[in-house]
Amino acid sequence: MAHESRMLIDGKLVDSETGRTFDNINPATEEVLGSTADGTRADMERAVAAARHAFDNTDWSRNGELRATGLRQLQAALEAEREEVRAELIAEAGCPLLSTYGPQLDVPLKEALTWPADMIGQFPWKRSLPDKDAFGIGAPARREVWKEPVGVVGVITPWNFPVEIILNKIGPILAMGNTMVLKPAPDTPWNATRIGRIIAEQTDIPPGVINIVTSSDHLVGEVLSTSPLVDMVAFTGSTATGRRIMTAAAQTIKPTFLELGGKSVYLILEDDGDISAAVGGSAFISMHAGQGCAMPTRLLVPHSRYAEAVEIVKVAMERNRYGDPTDPSVLQGPQVSRRQQERVLGYIQKGKDEGARLVTGGGIPKDTPRGFFVEPTIFADVDNSMTIAQEEIFGPVLSVIGFADDDEAVRIANDSIYGLSGVLFANDLERAKAVAGRIRTGTLGINGGLWYGADAPFGGYKQSGVGRQCGLEGLEIFTETKTVGWPAP
Ligand code: NAD
Repeated sequence: MAHESRMLIDGKLVDSETGRTFDNINPATEEVLGSTADGTRADMERAVAAARHAFDNTDWSRNGELRATGLRQLQAALEAEREEVRAELIAEAGCPLLSTYGPQLDVPLKEALTWPADMIGQFPWKRSLPDKDAFGIGAPARREVWKEPVGVVGVITPWNFPVEIILNKIGPILAMGNTMVLKPAPDTPWNATRIGRIIAEQTDIPPGVINIVTSSDHLVGEVLSTSPLVDMVAFTGSTATGRRIMTAAAQTIKPTFLELGGKSVYLILEDDGDISAAVGGSAFISMHAGQGCAMPTRLLVPHSRYAEAVEIVKVAMERNRYGDPTDPSVLQGPQVSRRQQERVLGYIQKGKDEGARLVTGGGIPKDTPRGFFVEPTIFADVDNSMTIAQEEIFGPVLSVIGFADDDEAVRIANDSIYGLSGVLFANDLERAKAVAGRIRTGTLGINGGLWYGADAPFGGYKQSGVGRQCGLEGLEIFTETKTVGWPAP
């Protein structure tokens, strides 16, 4: 597989200063795909200096036309390599081919760069306030609020939806006039280095505007949280790492934009109707082996329909095909690494130890001798206080929880440190909307409605994050606000 192993620093494709590399492993086959530059703190510091220079000493932040052109060139060049990106993504992330036609690749490729590019001309960069004699001294002022880029943004990303997340960072950050340093996850470096190569060779994006530093050492990314030359950190990953980044960033009072973990609900409100399609849909959480932050992994069903719901979801889950992620009929590939596989199996053991009833799955599939697979798994008789209902497992594990009425469903849904997403079904749309309004979460799909898009803000309440990616909010977050006044004529 042809890949780019070098980093992008100050417009040049470079190896690590030490010349060292690290292996990229295919999680479905355990084979080494190839190597990537193993960047160091010194490499990261050079990248930060380049981003600082590009922000402070070029007209990038003021040249909206160049920014729109650069984003569109990057999109077109990626589009031309779409099938190579797809194959690489499946090989390094283990995501199923099926998912690449949707949110893993095709959808973000279409709009994550172009929507922000289009918005450069439409964004409310300035707004007027009414003239005001603020201190009553006969000196009225004309006043305006200006939106300006934050400066240098340090970006740290995870491995689960690498292209989607990176494109949805690059688009808004560059559109708003910032420069950036990206540190991708070590499990999936090649989609990022490919983007680096394309930027260097096929776009007019000036040197230093985007820098990409790969490393096997998570802590190389910490330079982005601590450096006084970085103005903001934008992070997607686990809540534990988010906490650490926020703490490190506090030393320089850096704004942190955090997209973190989730433990979302799939809620079926009590109704007389047929619930088979709605309940069956919850088995979809085994897509990409459950490695999605917004996966609704707590299935909440009324006590009156509980036994029926467990039977329906068992059949649906057992029908899910897992295995080779390049097979178009496969829904579930491997966990991304041995470590993640062991972590998921540890949670399954915990579920059994705490008294939940294993309905299906629960182990390593016998028919996948290689690769980091876990069987699609369901636990019933789960109490929301159990570890498997409270902690993010990031595996194909669904917990079925019963409730008595709408109030109890809302209480259980909100009894979580997380508040990222959710799914809700009810025959009566108005009732569904009323319940949706009471659930403390950043996004919610009602009766199968999909909210996703480059124009739709996405992010979490509570410990699922701070700030929103995409939409107007996701542009605004990468701006500073300046209020100016001058004597009114
Ligand atoms: P992770 O937190 O382990 O790592 C994410 C990134 O942070 C990686 O690039 C890693 O190298 C880096 N990192 C780790 N420690 C660091 C430190 N101390 N300083 C700076 N950088 C550091 O997460 P992961 O396992 O890669 O991804 C899975 C997690 O991401 C899940 O919790 C999932 O819910 C979350 N996620 C959230 C969203 C969202 O939009 N809310 C989207 C995707 C994934």
